[in-house]
Amino acid sequence: MTHERDITAEDTLARFDGGLILDAQKQLSTGPAISSMEQCKEYILPLQQHIGVISQPLIRTGDRVLKGQMLARPGDLVSAAIHSPVSGVVTDIRQHEVPHASGLSDLCVFIENDFKDEWLEREPLGDDYNNTSSSNMRKVVRDAGIVGLGGAVFPAAVKQTEMNVRTLILNGVECEPYITCDDVLMREHAEDVIAGADIIGHIIKARQCVVAIEDNKPEAIQAIQSVIDKDGTGFFKIRVIPTLYPSGGEKQLIKIITGEEVPKGRYPAELGVLVHNVATAVAIQRAVYHDEPLISRILTVTGNGVRQPQNIEVLIGTPMSACIEHCGGYTEDSDELIMGGPMMGFSLQSDQLPVVKATNCLLVTADIEQVKHKKHLPCIRCGKCVEVCPVRLLPQQLYWYASSKNTDRLIEHNLFDCIECGCCAYVCPSEIPLVQYYRYAKTSIWQQERERKASDLSRQRHEAHQMRLDKIKREREDKLRKKRELLKKKTEAQNAADNKSDGDGSSDGKTSKQAAIAEAIARAHTKKAERNKAAEQVNETATTQSEAKTTPDKESSNTRETDK
Ligand code: SF4
Ligand code: SF4
Repeated sequence: MTHERDITAEDTLARFDGGLILDAQKQLSTGPAISSMEQCKEYILPLQQHIGVISQPLIRTGDRVLKGQMLARPGDLVSAAIHSPVSGVVTDIRQHEVPHASGLSDLCVFIENDFKDEWLEREPLGDDYNNTSSSNMRKVVRDAGIVGLGGAVFPAAVKQTEMNVRTLILNGVECEPYITCDDVLMREHAEDVIAGADIIGHIIKARQCVVAIEDNKPEAIQAIQSVIDKDGTGFFKIRVIPTLYPSGGEKQLIKIITGEEVPKGRYPAELGVLVHNVATAVAIQRAVYHDEPLISRILTVTGNGVRQPQNIEVLIGTPMSACIEHCGGYTEDSDELIMGGPMMGFSLQSDQLPVVKATNCLLVTADIEQVKHKKHLPCIRCGKCVEVCPVRLLPQQLYWYASSKNTDRLIEHNLFDCIECGCCAYVCPSEIPLVQYYRYAKTSIWQQERERKASDLSRQRHEAHQMRLDKIKREREDKLRKKRELLKKKTEAQNAADNKSDGDGSSDGKTSKQAAIAEAIARAHTKKAERNKAAEQVNETATTQSEAKTTPDKESSNTRETDK
């Protein structure tokens, strides 16, 4: 099932199930232009900022690093490199709290900024990308550590391995309330967005690129349209879609644009479609035209709990507290700090965490904002959550099974299809934080799965070890048995030979042996007799000499007595 034809401006847009029209609150942060943040003294780079395997560090504590230098390489195919956002010194590599819904720590590289802003030598590819093969271009994207910046943080180069893509959909929908970083990016960097999309189109050999933008972003639509008009190739077209949450979800957007649904357990490329976020396209444009890895991103700092809501260009690894400070600091009634928007974001316990590649928004709520509900009532089975679920799940059932930790039923009810859009929690009259239950259940199941795999691995290792020991034992026993058999055969052969001699009646061997023994005994007797005889002679001689010595002494003694 492939999307067989090009999408035209006349095509009717489709509608996905469920969804909500929300109070967007975008005006809070779209007033000022994107501002650049001053550099900080210290940057913290978690090695796990993407979907997939953790990156492998290439540096050690004490190393000097340059801006743009790779600090950690991808740990596997589905992984992403991490680069230094400044020049300076690696002061530590250790566990530190990271911005994640789990609130857990992870391995981080600490860089002390030397404020010299010394870049690693760069060699931009520029327009030559047109003459560069898809595989080499994917390497450029991979080496630059680029991941999906719309929130998924899936390694972009891995996504681009799909070569059967007809339509590239550039996602500029940004449907979640409060978040405006993609909107301002399209307004202020429309040329870079389209240049990035052109590069992706070249890599995946797409026939067309559809830029999808919600109708509540007229400035962005105008800016992109004007670049498309200048391009004039016909490769790009805009589709303006109605504002409805969560239109920016990958599968929901594909449904709206193509009218087709990505089947359960399948990938968009199987429909001939690939979706990339507009910020990801700009990151690719920077990698190709400036040889700049992903060391910064646009971040929305917003909400009634911050004094000057705005969008800032921030280096990855910047402490969140510095971002809030750059935006005038907290208001007196600031309440909760959330990474992401009010629907899909999660609460942070501290602002001493680093901005990571996934940080598209820091939302600071004030007491007056009812963004998150803290206490909830029991489920009354009203069914409102079912009506708004864009994935056609049964949120209240998932809630029951998550509460009772019934893993089998959760899996049966497709918990892992939940995109955590938060529509169900938003409409729930009992104010149940449903998404939190789902996230907790998913994390627990993953943990169980990890533990099961670890236990399987350990059992397999033990069995392999036991097999090795058994084999060694068997080989040793085999050797001993063969040795015994050989010895037995030799003894039997010898006995057989001896018996044969006896059986023949021949006594030559025996006689000669006996004769030899008799001869040896006779020789021994003779030698003994000779030795005794020699000893007697020696004794006799000694006795004679002793007597001879004794006689003169007596005489001389007598003589001496006479002289007196
Ligand atoms: S909306 Fe809330 S109360 Fe109503 S069925 Fe769903 S979980 Fe229960
Ligand atoms: S959070 Fe999950 S269950 Fe709730 S509406 Fe969204 S997709 Fe459906």
